[in-house]
Amino acid sequence: MYKIGNIYFIAAIAVIGGGLFGFDISSMSAIISTQPYLCQFNQRGFNDKGLCLGPTDDVQGGITAAMPGGSWLGALISGFLSDRFGRKTSIQMGSVVWVIGSIIVCAAVNIPMLAVGRIVNGFSVGICSAQVPVYISELAPPSKRGRLVGFQQWAITWGILIMFFICYGCSYIDGTASFRLPWGLQMIPAILLFIGLCFLPESPRWLAKKDRWEESKAVLTLVHGQGDANSPWVNQEMEEIREVVEFERANADVSYFELFTPKMINRTTIGIFTQIWSQLTGMNVMMYYITYVFTMAGLADDTGNAVLLPSGIQFVINVVMTVPALLWMDRWGRRPTLLIGAFFMCLWLCVNAGLFAVYSRAPYPGEFPSTAESMAISGAPAKAIIASTYLFVASFAPTWGPVSWAYPPELYPLRLRGKAVALCTSANWAFNFALAYFVPPAFANITWRTYVLFATFCAAMFIHVYFMFPETANKPLEEVEMMFDDTRPGAIKYIGTPAWKTRNTRHLTIKNERNEVSSEEKIGYEERKETTSTNSA
Ligand code: BGC
Repeated sequence: MYKIGNIYFIAAIAVIGGGLFGFDISSMSAIISTQPYLCQFNQRGFNDKGLCLGPTDDVQGGITAAMPGGSWLGALISGFLSDRFGRKTSIQMGSVVWVIGSIIVCAAVNIPMLAVGRIVNGFSVGICSAQVPVYISELAPPSKRGRLVGFQQWAITWGILIMFFICYGCSYIDGTASFRLPWGLQMIPAILLFIGLCFLPESPRWLAKKDRWEESKAVLTLVHGQGDANSPWVNQEMEEIREVVEFERANADVSYFELFTPKMINRTTIGIFTQIWSQLTGMNVMMYYITYVFTMAGLADDTGNAVLLPSGIQFVINVVMTVPALLWMDRWGRRPTLLIGAFFMCLWLCVNAGLFAVYSRAPYPGEFPSTAESMAISGAPAKAIIASTYLFVASFAPTWGPVSWAYPPELYPLRLRGKAVALCTSANWAFNFALAYFVPPAFANITWRTYVLFATFCAAMFIHVYFMFPETANKPLEEVEMMFDDTRPGAIKYIGTPAWKTRNTRHLTIKNERNEVSSEEKIGYEERKETTSTNSA
């Protein structure tokens, strides 16, 4: 079948998987307060105006959490699927599962059916969110890898935005079509993803690992060599892949548990924490519970609908502010981006904590519908809260958002990449799931201190990144390997080159990809490789 080799096109198709992730995040927010939904899944009877009260709080919590729960499981299993059947095929499996889940959800007549459908949908998102970054990073040239994987985050933000507004729009339709329509429409991107992937090549690194060398070379030629099988860059990459595959065959005990051996545990921790910290920034407080925050800031009217527009603005900011990262994240490097992001998010969270602590009052009985809306604030401080909330989103979007997807796949050797990234992504979902539950009671019980908690996490992640997260931007994946295996003087046992000493070598990598490295630089480059590979052998 005809295969497309343009890396931007490849990424554009693959990240539709990220769009499904976004749908997952916002698929409930605008629907759960509508009458057709509350009546279809009614457990609590009717109020004095004859309106349906819907499922109990616990059951609604379970329905909402069914998706992140399924995603956690899907992400965890995706490593096996991807190593066995290929990166591309596992994403295709994910898209088929999404369609099945969407059919169940769209046709749901009772709560168990809805919950099962959401678990199935979540399962699909788990597979796609873990394996799309692996697939793209194994196909992308090093100098564009961050940007291309970052497209996944952009697709997530688009998915959140689109689904939020579709659900919001459909909430005006009478009858059950108001929720069946958005849950049915979400099948379309998954079908496009499945069909689009048929025209994309498999990962050359996975093909090599399966001893399909000819095909691997053909893919590199198509994607990186502009059809020229003798291009020096293609030959060099092929050589590096071959070395790594052979070295790994000869030396490694290939199993999941290898991730927890002394040699690997550092990377495993870094990768898992990249995803855990991305959740502990508090970003999903803004994504899931922004309406609570804006209600406390006095934006709600009697129907609660007035907060939907400012919430929508936040989703737009999220999409727009991801763009600078797509343009420049490879130039910035991973470390500075993560450090600056953590710093600014910490700042805005402290501002919010301070404003609520000083200027808010306890709400009057019955003033707000939810116990999580535990403070009331008005006037200039309320405006400052809204501004600082938007600034928080604008700080996450170009930093931790995209880097949390680009960084983990760069950390691991080929033989472990699929499984390792699956593990990291499952940590994202486990914390996503936990926070979805924890945030409302936190606001109810410790009010503004919830912000202090997240600010503390941001400070902790800043320190963790500074001391432990090495720079991987622009390095061929095989060279990252050498950095962790570094045993030269000054390196740390089981850690390799100390993180704060690692640098972004963009200028050299770009020249090398274009085969423009001067002989002097080449010597430095080759020497660097040689010293580290001799040490690691
Ligand atoms: C996170 C999600 C979050 C989204 C917001 C992603 O990177 O993993 O949990 O909702 O960014 O844009």
